[in-house]
Amino acid sequence: MLGAPGAGKGTQAAALAKHFGVPHISTGELLRGEVAAGTALGQEVADRLAAGDLVPDELVGRVVAEALAQAGEGYILDGFPRTAAQAQAADERYGRLADAVVFLELPDDVAGRRLADRAEGRPDDRDPEVIAHRLRRYHDETLPLVDWYRGRAPVVTVDGDRPPDDVTAEALAGLEGLDRP
Ligand code: AMP
Repeated sequence: MLGAPGAGKGTQAAALAKHFGVPHISTGELLRGEVAAGTALGQEVADRLAAGDLVPDELVGRVVAEALAQAGEGYILDGFPRTAAQAQAADERYGRLADAVVFLELPDDVAGRRLADRAEGRPDDRDPEVIAHRLRRYHDETLPLVDWYRGRAPVVTVDGDRPPDDVTAEALAGLEGLDRP
């Protein structure tokens, strides 16, 4: 899943994972879990999460490797890769990380409002400056991955500015229309 913070990646990834009966791997959730559990890794990344900064590739790579090892064949990956360096490293390490990409499109102003409104109690959703910072990082580092993936995997682009069930239906229709890898 690719999309801006607030585009609904978590919600959609959970719905798609349920539909396909595969695990939902969210690097953000896994990292927040490490922080909550007070692990060494959690302590190392806590400040960056709170500031809306990306966690170093090596640390997120460790979390992803563990989750993929547990997931087996199929999974919905949400929040990774987030940079070209992560995508390239994953490509080298895993071969094909993704059979398909679902790209949730959402204008920044809508994404920003959603983040400010959502009540998940995440520290990085409260502060307008942190929200703006996350959106900037998204544009600079993650959005270029949509083009990076084109030609490597089918990209299903879905308008994220609609009710969640409609977004899920459109994503599924797009995925089901693809040739099986
Ligand atoms: P998310 O729940 O996907 O919005 O992620 C929340 C936070 O976790 C991000 O703002 C980053 O600090 C960190 N994070 C999640 N995934 C990654 C990743 N692939 N690379 C670096 N940092 C990440």
